[in-house]
Amino acid sequence: MFDFLMMILGLASFAGCIALAIVLVLKIGQVSQLETSVNNLKYTLDEMDEQAKLVVRTDIELNKTQEELDKKVNGLYTLQKLTRSISSTLDETQIFGKIEQELVENLGFEKAAAFLRNEFTGNYIFYLELNYAEEELEAIRQFVQAQSDAFHQMINNEKGMSSVSPQVDRQLREQIKKTFKVISFVISPILPKEGNKGFLFVGSTDPDLIINEGDEELMNILANQIGQALENARLFEKTWQAHQELEKRVEERTRELSVALEEVKRISQRKNDFVSNVSHELRTPLTSIKGYASILLSGKLGAIPEEVHKRLEKINKHSDELVSFVNDLLDIARIESGRITLKLVPLNVRNVVEEVADLLAVQMKEKQIAFRLDVDAALPEVLADYGQIKRVCINLINNAVKYTPGGTITVRAAQKNSRVQIDIADTGCGIPEDAVNNLFVEFYRVDSTINQEVKGTGLGLAMVKHIIEAHKGTIWVKSSAGAGSTFSFTLPVAQ
Ligand code: ADP
Repeated sequence: MFDFLMMILGLASFAGCIALAIVLVLKIGQVSQLETSVNNLKYTLDEMDEQAKLVVRTDIELNKTQEELDKKVNGLYTLQKLTRSISSTLDETQIFGKIEQELVENLGFEKAAAFLRNEFTGNYIFYLELNYAEEELEAIRQFVQAQSDAFHQMINNEKGMSSVSPQVDRQLREQIKKTFKVISFVISPILPKEGNKGFLFVGSTDPDLIINEGDEELMNILANQIGQALENARLFEKTWQAHQELEKRVEERTRELSVALEEVKRISQRKNDFVSNVSHELRTPLTSIKGYASILLSGKLGAIPEEVHKRLEKINKHSDELVSFVNDLLDIARIESGRITLKLVPLNVRNVVEEVADLLAVQMKEKQIAFRLDVDAALPEVLADYGQIKRVCINLINNAVKYTPGGTITVRAAQKNSRVQIDIADTGCGIPEDAVNNLFVEFYRVDSTINQEVKGTGLGLAMVKHIIEAHKGTIWVKSSAGAGSTFSFTLPVAQ
């Protein structure tokens, strides 16, 4: 029984051991699972930590980028302002005056200087200095002159430099910093196409300022704008000088011309006086000749033979021609010297032309010339001297009759703005092109076969022109050989 009990106890303890072993194995399994979980958790935690660090890093970088962006936008805004004000001036010295302290500071710098190199002497001349004491300026001037080769090379290469430029030798960079009293700097060449070239310097004493490509780019743009403005100023200066020169020459010429004009006026006056005197002298004996011829012709001094009668008539006719010639000469002299006073009254052009056409009707009929008058129904009156305008019409229509061997003469009158234009057109022999310009010159007659048959003095058109111009009108002709002529003139409308 005891054995049985012992056996049962033994079995029970065995079973307990097995159960314990099983529990142990199970627990071990749980522990290792837990360990894995803990490891996983640790890994996750590490990763999260890494990510947190990345987030902080990104944030810092973002802030930095934002700052840089702000700086760039600010710089660009300042640059735009500067560019606008620089390009608005055309005076070389004023261009640099536009680069003010505040604007340079907006670009992130406190100090600035600019030099242009005199092309002929090779000397660098200060055009701008900001935030430098007098003695510092002197040191800078001397330094730039001493290092002129290096600066000259930089200008020739059209490439700037900065405190961080790797291609510029370190010693020079340090010297620049020391002399210009800055920690960082940017130098950009100023390169106008013509004239003195130079460079723009900006620098900062802020140890935190880090010069980057953006700063260099910005300063290059500004230096470019200065170069462009210098070029514009130079061009303006050139144009201005040329303009001044031209004005001086025009003034000189005008003075010469007015002297010449005075001389011409004097000579013309003398000519007019001479013509007037001679014409008067001629008129007196001519009147006597005509008078005697008329008395003889009238038979009051006794009958005269037929042959003498014929000769006397010729004397009479030629005397008339001579008197009319002398009268024309006298009139031209009078009009030219302003000794004629026009009696300006409102005139009806149609009436004047019709009167003249009546006067010349016989000649027109003889030559089988048709006369047409084409006047605007609502043509206003003109302000003119009746006697003188009638004379103009007689001359022009008479010429049309003289130089038209059968055909048509048309007179047109129409209003053109504040003037009335009168055209006298014929279908006659016309005028060769090379003669047209001389027609209104005294004594000019076209060298043509028709002129050998038609009598004339070459004074009619000259006188007509003087009369029209005395009325503040103009006269011109359109004609070509064989194609008829149209003489046109204008007169002011009567208000
Ligand atoms: P003239 O007494 O010779 O007619 P004018 O001064 O009136 O003098 O004219 C100058 C010249 O212009 C004339 O000699 C003639 O050759 C030319 N001329 C003028 N009117 C006409 C015309 N209607 N047709 C052709 N030629 C003309």
